[in-house]
Amino acid sequence: MPRIAFVGLGNMGGPMARNLITAGHSVTVFDLSAPAMADLTAAGAQSASSALAAAQGADAVITMLPAGKHVAQVYMGEDGLLANMAKGALALDASTIDSETAQQVGLAATEAGIAFMDTPVSGGVAAAAAGTLAFMCGGSEDAFLRAKPILEGMGNAEKIFHAGPAGAGQVAKAVNNMLLAVHMIGSCEALSMGVAKGLDPAVLSEIMKASSGNNWSLQVYNPWPEVMPNVPSSNDYQPGFMVDLMVKDLGLAGQVAQSSGVNNQLGQLALALYSAHQSDGNGARDFSSIVERIKVR
Ligand code: NAD
Repeated sequence: MPRIAFVGLGNMGGPMARNLITAGHSVTVFDLSAPAMADLTAAGAQSASSALAAAQGADAVITMLPAGKHVAQVYMGEDGLLANMAKGALALDASTIDSETAQQVGLAATEAGIAFMDTPVSGGVAAAAAGTLAFMCGGSEDAFLRAKPILEGMGNAEKIFHAGPAGAGQVAKAVNNMLLAVHMIGSCEALSMGVAKGLDPAVLSEIMKASSGNNWSLQVYNPWPEVMPNVPSSNDYQPGFMVDLMVKDLGLAGQVAQSSGVNNQLGQLALALYSAHQSDGNGARDFSSIVERIKVR
């Protein structure tokens, strides 16, 4: 089984690395946070003193970092992973970042003889813990075939997609989350209007799920409190998926729109709404709490 180096052990990376250990991989970890390192070494990982040290002798490196600048810093330059990993090794970046940075790292990787893929995820912390993440991969066909068995240790084998060349995974992730924001806001508006007119939110949800307004937010993530058990709206909007992350992803979708020349008016409107919600102190709450902005008018 490939030996894996895992860098970035936060809310997502921590449980992902743990699942790789459970799947039987030898995993060496690095994070700037000592408690995150301690958690993983307790779970059976080897600890390293730097990202470079973790990558020594690894067949594959996986990174799960906050943003593009962290990914560029870890991979690029003389002290970066690409210049120091074993030739032919695999590098998978599962972070959500801009597709331009993913393309630049992909290009530098090709020059360094490393097989790089951007492999952003969908599913959030619960899916990371359950090992049921979806992966959207950008890179060569050969890298995808090598990456797939490793990604299956952290995700649902049916939901591991090859989106295209380097950067394509990040484009898929950004446009998907923009669509999520748009149908969440639309579902919140529809429910708010129906309830204001005296309809029961649970009955209205069933009607729309059986009709042409059906969408993921209504199916599995109903934003109206107490319509559905075990979702953030029935748990005081504890995340789930934070407003802060939705604002980040809508910003990335805006970059995709700009660089592709597409006029994403609904995406921009969603970004404005979520940014206002974030500014009002809701950044750490679940993104379905946007219903409160619509209800209170
Ligand atoms: P997080 O902030 O919990 O974790 C990031 C980790 O990276 C931290 O432990 C931090 O110490 C570490 N780190 C930062 N710079 C580092 C460096 N130079 N070297 C080593 N470690 C470093 O974030 P998260 O929620 O785990 O998210 C990670 C990525 O996954 C982000 O790009 C995010 O957008 C994406 N994502 C998150 C979710 C979610 O629900 N949390 C869902 C899908 C995608």
